[in-house]
Amino acid sequence: EENGGFVGVADTDYAEEEERRKSAEAFQIVHQQLGRTYLPLINGEYVNTPEVIDSLNPSNFSQVVGKVGLISVEQAEQAMKAAKAAFPAWRKTPAKQRADILRKAGDLMSQRRAELSAWIVLEVGKPVKEADAEVSEAIDFCLYYADEMERLDKGVNYDVSGETNRYIYQPRGIAVVISPWNFPLAIACGMTVAALVAGNCTLLKPAETSSVITAKLTEILVEAGIPQGVYQYVPGKGSQVGAYLVNHPDTHVIAFTGSQEVGCRIYAEAATLKPGQKHMKRVIAEMGGKNAIIVDESADLDQAVVGVVQSAFGYSGQKCSACSRVIVLQSIYDTFVERLVEATKSLNIGETELPSTQVGPVIDANARDRIREYIEKGKTEALVALELPAPQQGYFIGPVIFSEVPPNAIIAQQEIFGPVLAVIKVKDFQEALAVANGTNYALTGGLYSRTPSHIQQAQQEFEVGNLYINRTITGAIVARQPFGGFNLSGVGSKAGGPDYLLQFLEPRTITENI
Ligand code: GLU
Repeated sequence: EENGGFVGVADTDYAEEEERRKSAEAFQIVHQQLGRTYLPLINGEYVNTPEVIDSLNPSNFSQVVGKVGLISVEQAEQAMKAAKAAFPAWRKTPAKQRADILRKAGDLMSQRRAELSAWIVLEVGKPVKEADAEVSEAIDFCLYYADEMERLDKGVNYDVSGETNRYIYQPRGIAVVISPWNFPLAIACGMTVAALVAGNCTLLKPAETSSVITAKLTEILVEAGIPQGVYQYVPGKGSQVGAYLVNHPDTHVIAFTGSQEVGCRIYAEAATLKPGQKHMKRVIAEMGGKNAIIVDESADLDQAVVGVVQSAFGYSGQKCSACSRVIVLQSIYDTFVERLVEATKSLNIGETELPSTQVGPVIDANARDRIREYIEKGKTEALVALELPAPQQGYFIGPVIFSEVPPNAIIAQQEIFGPVLAVIKVKDFQEALAVANGTNYALTGGLYSRTPSHIQQAQQEFEVGNLYINRTITGAIVARQPFGGFNLSGVGSKAGGPDYLLQFLEPRTITENI
C-alpha cells in the first residue's frame, strides 16, 4: 500500500551561501539568548519550581545553554489533575481541528528551523547538518500524524442490510511521554504530537540534558493553539517525577524512548494495577540496539566504507540506529578494515556549528566516562585498529575501531552509544547472519552486497525492524522508513508509520439494528 502521497519537508542545503548566512545568523541570535531560564508549563501557566538545573553545551561545558526548572512530585500531581480536567473537551474536539494545530506547529518549526537547529547543536552537541535533518523529521511527524488522524477518524463501515456496523477510534486518556536527549526535538515532538492528535491529554517529560529544546517545542505547541491542560511540559527527575507519572493510576499510555534498562522498568511498573486504576496501561518503548552491517565479498567497498563510517560515527554513534558492529567476510576483511580506518581518519571532528563537521562531542561526563570504560574493556578483548584523538575542550571522544572482535565480546554485545565500532570477521555469509542475529536486540541492520541470493536471504533471516540494503542504517524518514525494532529493542509500533497512532487510540465497534 502506498503512503497516501505524503511528502516530507526538505533539509537545508548548506551548499547555498544564503542558507549558510541564515544559519550563522541564527547561531548569533541563539548565543545571545544562552543562560535564560525555562519553566515547566502546568495547566497553561509557566510555574516556578523548587529546583533549577543548568543545561550545558557538551562542546564547551562552561557554557550554560539554559536553566531549567524541575518540577516536584506535588507539581506532577497538579499536572495530572489538569490533564484529567482538560480531557473531556479535548476528546470531543474534532480530529480536523486537532490535526490543524499540528500543521500550525509544523509551520512554526519551518519558520524557526535555523534557530531550532542552533539550539540542538548547542544543547546536545549534534553537528548542525544532522540537527537540521532532525528539524525536518519533527516537522514531518506533525504533518504526517495530522494526515493520519484524519484518515483514521473516518473509521470503517461494515454495514449489512438491517444493521449498521461502525468501527471508530477514540482517544485513550492521558499520555505520558518520556523523551530522550539524542533526538531532542524530533523524537519528543513525534511521540507528543501523536498522543495529542489522537485526542489524549499529554505530559512531556524530557531527558534533563535536553530540556531547553523541549521548552522550545512547548513554546511552539502553545503558539499553535494547544489548549491549556491538554499539553503540559513537565521536566523533572526521571527517578522521581518520571516514575510518579508512570505509576499514576490515571495514566493510560506511556510513550518512551531511551535505555533498555529504563524501558524494562517502565514496562514492569506500568503492568501493575494501582489502587483506583480501572484500565491496563499501554507502553510504547523504543530501547536501543547493537546494530550490525554485513559486508560480503561482492559488496561495492567504496559504498560500504562510506556507509559504515557514517552509520557508526554520525552524531558520535549516539543513535539507537547506529552501526556498532560490522561483520565482514574473511576474503575481503583486511582490505575492508584498511579502507575503513583510512576513511575514518578523514572525518571532520570538532566544531559542531559548521555544516562540514561530522563528529561532535558526546552528551555529558557520564557518557564520556562510560564510553571510555568500554574502550578500555575493548582493549582487553580485541585489537585496536584506530583510536583517533579528539579536541580537549568539551566531552569529545575520538572514533575508535576495534578489529578481530569475537562475536560474544562485551563490546560486540552491549550497547555503547558512542563512537566505538567492532569489526568482526566471519568465514561465510551464513555465519555473518548468525553473528548479526546473535544479540538481544533487533533494531536496524544493513547489508552491502551485490549477490541477489544474499540480499534475499537477508530479507528473510536478518532479524531487525529496519533492514537497509546498500545504504546507511541511520536516518529513517517519516512515512518512508517507519522506524522501530523488536526483541529487546522495543515494544510498540513504528514511528512515522501507518500503525503508530493506533497505539494512542481505543477502537470501538458500534452496531445498530435498523
Ligand atoms: N530514527 C533515528 C534513525 O533512523 C534513530 C532514533 C534513535 O536513535 O532513537 O537514525
